Amino acid sequence: MNDITIDRERLWSSLQKLGEIGETDDGAMVRVTGSPADAAARDTVVSWFEDAGMNVTVDAVGNIKARLPGTTDEDPVMTGSHIDTVPHGGKFDGVVGVLAPLEVVRAWNDAGITPERPLDIVVFTEEEGTRFGVGLLGSLVATGKLALADALELSDGNETVRECLASIGYNGAGTIDLSSATSFLEIHVEQGPILDESEIDVGIVDAVAGITHHRVVFEGTADHAGNTPMDMRRDAYLGAAQFALELESIATSAGEHSVGTVGKSTVSPNGTNVVPGRVELGVDIRDIDSKRLSHMIDDAKAAATNAADARGLDVRWETLLEVEPTDLSAEIRRRLERAANSTDSTYRTMLSGAGHDAMNVAETVPTGMLFVPSEEGLSHTPEEFTSPEDLYRGTRVLEAAIRDLVGGPHAVSSPLSEKHPDSA
Ligand SMILES: [Zn+2]
Repeated sequence: MNDITIDRERLWSSLQKLGEIGETDDGAMVRVTGSPADAAARDTVVSWFEDAGMNVTVDAVGNIKARLPGTTDEDPVMTGSHIDTVPHGGKFDGVVGVLAPLEVVRAWNDAGITPERPLDIVVFTEEEGTRFGVGLLGSLVATGKLALADALELSDGNETVRECLASIGYNGAGTIDLSSATSFLEIHVEQGPILDESEIDVGIVDAVAGITHHRVVFEGTADHAGNTPMDMRRDAYLGAAQFALELESIATSAGEHSVGTVGKSTVSPNGTNVVPGRVELGVDIRDIDSKRLSHMIDDAKAAATNAADARGLDVRWETLLEVEPTDLSAEIRRRLERAANSTDSTYRTMLSGAGHDAMNVAETVPTGMLFVPSEEGLSHTPEEFTSPEDLYRGTRVLEAAIRDLVGGPHAVSSPLSEKHPDSA
């Protein structure tokens, strides 16, 4: 077998170069779909794919697919993630899932290895949903969960997806055919503290939590804060506050992986000397078990009603987003464990509390996810960081797993080895 060397410096420097595109003065990333930074970042990764001998195509929703041909025309193995960011994000979220597999291809090229099956690296459009309000947009279209025509008509009030993709030249044809893939792997930063705190190299994800979003509105009466006695108020803020505390105990007692968050609140009239007449809350409730998730939502609704009744308030509950929990493939998980063992990496099984493109793909294709540590668990902030060493270790596991899936390290006499006579 040829020596396969993941080049830590090459991987790190690619990540830094991509991290300069859309970087603000304070080191944050702003790479929103269709922006000049998005276009430049896309152009950069496409040129890197092509330099690595991959064939690049773009589909109608702007998903990029780079194919490393195999020695056979059998169905491909797919991997990938996204390179768009939240408005004040970091350099690692999504990007790792594109550049780590690119490093795998570069390392194979160096070693003169061609896989049996083709390997596709996919860059999904608008994963964060920052601009057009629908997260995981590219993978929703690729899996047929969202019709292409509907996706293209989504608008940010200024421009549609169709117009924005045309303006940056990433409006290709057709949609990526995920159903042809034998397997899908996504490597991603954990975006939580578990691996970093326990000093474990990689997380092997067995399930992605179900995600629900709700708008909860408490209505009372706006009054003068000086002239309205305490026992004569209908203070919407106090009802909302009581509900928030109740949600905390509901989630805490529901289960180990249950979480409930009031992440957003809009108080009106929002004046220091006014009793709040209306409070609108953005509520996020997640669980890995769909039954427990719906119980938590029922309990939360009851808690909102009780909090409102106790203070003579009205309450309205509107569910905005419901994504079912997703189990990932047990077979791919075993392969990832084998890959971790073969590279002497420590690992643990874990769930993902965040949604990822892999979650959509998992319904169509046997899918696995690999997490690398996020320093202090930070993500969606400029402080997001994964060390070069952790990236290197994770990429070694990814390489071993992909090599396993594409058909082994046997293809030595490939055309690529002619480009690298010294590597033979
Ligand atoms: Zn991501």
